[in-house]
Amino acid sequence: MIGVLVAVAIVIALGIAFAVGSGAFGGKVDKRPDGKGETLVGRSMYRAKDEACRSNLGQVRQSLQIATDPTEDTHPASLQELHLGDDFMRCPIGKEPYEYDPATGTVKCVHPGHEKY
Ligand SMILES: [Zn+2]
Repeated sequence: MIGVLVAVAIVIALGIAFAVGSGAFGGKVDKRPDGKGETLVGRSMYRAKDEACRSNLGQVRQSLQIATDPTEDTHPASLQELHLGDDFMRCPIGKEPYEYDPATGTVKCVHPGHEKY
């Protein structure tokens, strides 16, 4: 019984060591395009903000879809017409305003690494 517990403890310890080790190593190789987040904590913080940016853009796109006239297929002239609040108009990391094209109704983030969001 104790032998099993010790074996399980070793496996868990190895798993944690591997996860931490590969995370630290992978982070050095996989540098962020904006050069932010040098530490393990900093990187996970910025990863969370990446997600916030992605979700912002998702909300903005959804609102754009609702605001688009289905018969005329015209898009709002500006993002301000969506009345989403200023937090949804810019990237949470670099605070760059989102780029909006009223002709196509597309919105994107100009922050390095966020171009494909
Ligand atoms: Zn962004």
